[in-house]
Amino acid sequence: MPAPSNAGTVVAAVPTSEGLRSSLHDRGQRLTPQRQRVLALFERIGEGTHLSAEEVHQRLLRAQERVSLATVYRTLRLLSSMGLLQELELPEGGRRFELAGDAHRDHHHMVCVGCGRTEEFESTAVLTAGEAAAGLHGFRLLDCVLTVRALCPRCAERS
Ligand SMILES: [Zn+2]
Ligand SMILES: [Zn+2]
Repeated sequence: MPAPSNAGTVVAAVPTSEGLRSSLHDRGQRLTPQRQRVLALFERIGEGTHLSAEEVHQRLLRAQERVSLATVYRTLRLLSSMGLLQELELPEGGRRFELAGDAHRDHHHMVCVGCGRTEEFESTAVLTAGEAAAGLHGFRLLDCVLTVRALCPRCAERS
């Protein structure tokens, strides 16, 4: 009996968070021990947590890692450029970093301008708008990310 014509088709499995973590980990193997420790910190706390460079520095100090804030900044930049971390630019000029993952890429952020509380959300409408805008100008969409500035309930009550 002839094999079906699509027998050779490889269907990409949806990456589990375990598989994702190990692939990030594999890519991180080229890193110096210090850089690996920064990546390991993000792997421990998991996806969806957004840390500033200062927060990363504090956590490393608490874990008895002797590292300067300048080194943390450089390391975060490097890990972002390698695609291991995702950088989130905040409206007030601050930056947050989170673990990058293929399954966790297309999400948006709502940031409280009062306290920096950050919530993630997904939106097909945003993606559709991005695709329409790209198509209109003949661009190919790579990604489409929205940052919403807002006041959280606590800060709204205070102001
Ligand atoms: Zn995020
Ligand atoms: Zn707030």
